[in-house]
Amino acid sequence: MSVEERLQDVKARIGKAERLSKRPAGSVTLVAVSKTFDAEDIRPVIVAGQRVFGENRVQESQGKWPELKAETPDIELHLIGPLQSNKAADAVALFDVIETVDREKIARALADEIRKQGKAPKLYVQVNTGLEPQKAGIEPKETVAFVELCRKELGLSIEGLMCIPPAEENPGPHFALLAKLAKECGVEKLSMGMSGDFETAVEFGATSVRVGSAIFGSR
Ligand SMILES: *Cc1c(COP(=O)(O)O)cnc(C)c1O
Repeated sequence: MSVEERLQDVKARIGKAERLSKRPAGSVTLVAVSKTFDAEDIRPVIVAGQRVFGENRVQESQGKWPELKAETPDIELHLIGPLQSNKAADAVALFDVIETVDREKIARALADEIRKQGKAPKLYVQVNTGLEPQKAGIEPKETVAFVELCRKELGLSIEGLMCIPPAEENPGPHFALLAKLAKECGVEKLSMGMSGDFETAVEFGATSVRVGSAIFGSR
């Protein structure tokens, strides 16, 4: 299959999952994860109509996205990888959505940059639903308080939650936990589901799924 065919296939599978869960058609946004692929690989996917993309590294993204965004201004670029506070300025400048806010230090750095640059990317808080030591994300039990701190103390508008369930576990309970926390925090967006489990994520209420290899091929 070509990359265009794989994109259509993923979109059809999202549509089917929406129908099966009795969710409105188009209620789930596909974030095409283009990490490790260069501008030449990404362009055909843009030409095929895809506008929302995800990247996990700030520096790698700076090498390809300014040019691609200049060519197609309605692209929405999501940062889905861990963010260091020394990269906060670059991240605010380049990304439209930052999905990986997960500690006070980075939240403060983002708040400072948003003030300085007068540009406010949408923000999601990453939750480490599986309490994995090597994985980024705030602990589930600290999520409500952290979202409150971001909102009340730092003036950040948090729109959603994001998670990456442990690779070897059934993802359903993790997606259910994220949906429950989102309700408790009063946020509407749920970024969950990847190539291996995005249909399950749609069933549990994902508003966006982050799909890489099923579109671009293996990395
Ligand atoms: C790479 C990545 C994805 C996409 O993974 P695939 O299995 O290739 O679909 C999704 N989310 C995050 C945070 C990633 O780093």
